[in-house]
Amino acid sequence: MAMEFERPLRGEPMGLDLLNTVWMSKGAPKDQLESLDGVQAWLDELAIAQPATEQTRRALVTAREAIRAHVDDPASESARRTLNEVLAWGHHQPTLTPDGPGTTDEIHDPAQRPGWLAAVSYLQLLAKDASRVRRCAHPDCVLHFYDTSPKRGRRWCSMAACGNRAKAARHYARASGRPPRATVPADHSVR
Ligand SMILES: [Zn+2]
Repeated sequence: MAMEFERPLRGEPMGLDLLNTVWMSKGAPKDQLESLDGVQAWLDELAIAQPATEQTRRALVTAREAIRAHVDDPASESARRTLNEVLAWGHHQPTLTPDGPGTTDEIHDPAQRPGWLAAVSYLQLLAKDASRVRRCAHPDCVLHFYDTSPKRGRRWCSMAACGNRAKAARHYARASGRPPRATVPADHSVR
């Protein structure tokens, strides 16, 4: 039976979903891509037909950290270069298929395909609207999302986790007369 991974945030576009394979649980980061079981679970969840190998795992982690570096500092020259290195793992090939014009993905090393797809997905988000790429507003939370709300008002990975914790911290501050502080650490551990 497949191992269960309780990722707190799923369903974001692939480029950001890959970042969300790391989350905070009981004050420490948890990384689903540390094990091949975790990699396979992620590939299955995203319907990427690919066996999890150590090469695939390493390429995914490389792609993930390249995306993370760019999200953290979009102006960084080295982050841009690192991301471009991942994007250079493959390319879209215009092709004439029996059904007419189309494209195929050409990847130099098949093990790099999932990481490449995630980097391409992230690039598409930047092309669409880079300002909607956000990190959860909780200072200790490492989750990311693409804000598709009409008013661009999304602040939290989820209201149930970080949103309510921030609200509780504000309520406590009001009740105690102390200035508001993020007193409740981010925690996505399953209770
Ligand atoms: Zn959060």
